[in-house]
Amino acid sequence: MVDLHGQYLKIKDEIDAGIQAVIDGSAFINGPAVKVFRENLSRYMGGTHVIPCANGTDALQIALMALGLKPGDEIIVPAFTYVSSAEVIGLLGLKPVMVDVDPRTFNVTADNIRKALTPASKAIIPVHLFGQSCDMEPILELAEANGLYVIEDNAQALGAEYTFSDGRKAMTGTMGTIGCTSFFPSKNLGCYGDGGAIFCQDEELASRIAMIANHGQKVKYHHSVIGCNSRLDTIQAAVLNAKLPHLDEYSRARQEAAKYYSSRLRALDPAGEFFLTPYEQENSTHVYHQYTLKIRGGRRDGLKSFLAERGIPSMIYYPLPLQEQEAFRGIASAAGTLDHARECADSVLSLPMHTELTHDIQDAVLAGIKAYFGL
Ligand SMILES: *Cc1c(COP(=O)(O)O)cnc(C)c1O
Repeated sequence: MVDLHGQYLKIKDEIDAGIQAVIDGSAFINGPAVKVFRENLSRYMGGTHVIPCANGTDALQIALMALGLKPGDEIIVPAFTYVSSAEVIGLLGLKPVMVDVDPRTFNVTADNIRKALTPASKAIIPVHLFGQSCDMEPILELAEANGLYVIEDNAQALGAEYTFSDGRKAMTGTMGTIGCTSFFPSKNLGCYGDGGAIFCQDEELASRIAMIANHGQKVKYHHSVIGCNSRLDTIQAAVLNAKLPHLDEYSRARQEAAKYYSSRLRALDPAGEFFLTPYEQENSTHVYHQYTLKIRGGRRDGLKSFLAERGIPSMIYYPLPLQEQEAFRGIASAAGTLDHARECADSVLSLPMHTELTHDIQDAVLAGIKAYFGL
């Protein structure tokens, strides 16, 4: 599904030198590479405050901790997402309220969020799933009108750009109250272990977030709030400093691979009788964290096994929507029907997608799909 080693070999000298410098300096915790990365990423994101942390799940947890929420406050979250987006809500004693997603983009919509509003609603967590921005303009307007915080889960869409109706552009992760991302190795900007970051436009809130990530202290051994220990490792920061300058080129490689898949697949099945290729919105770039098809006619699992028998990997992100996860039974509620989330879980199939794909590899995947459907 990914080729992290192939990607490493292309920038081996930069990575090796960065890691070696950390070892030579031996400042393994909060070493200079972390500060450099914070500044580099802030510049890349258009000048937003950046607080590096240990992983993307921590980023979401710390974001919620920073907002002064009370147990029982309702946090609206899409039912079709990775567990982290909702897990942290439950962990903090807040109430996840699940809403349905758009069946074409897989993303949560303002209309579905509106159905979930109650006097206890305090925040929304839009997830930019698979690499494409949620339609943020109506979501931000709804949040503003109802006094809700917006925490963008940008773990899968770092580098994507959203365009507002007046032509203004913004990077995903910088539009809400707080943005969160992950540097898990297979993410679009991945390190060689765990890592994450939090984005925030407001200086005061950014400093509160940094304090929470650092045991609730601003001054060493003086703890003003209950925080946690969530740091980006210095070695990981060195890896990220080597990789960040390549992020846009990585996004382009993913976009080109997606274009190749989509043009061939559409030629095989022009009417979309057997499968649907990813839908690209006009108001967002798509950085293709995943290239996800919807397979029609209940044939998804059959196709997956057929490909696997031929040594072609594919993955189901995600096989169960949140409403069917045991962990959320009794603590989450649903606003409206979650039929699209259910239908997505039954029909999605993600194909190999990474920066090192060649047409030969893609042709082999395409030949497998063609053979299965007899096209
Ligand atoms: C990967 C991911 C996370 C969590 O990131 P970790 O670094 O693995 O904790 C959160 N949300 C989404 C949508 C993700 O894909």
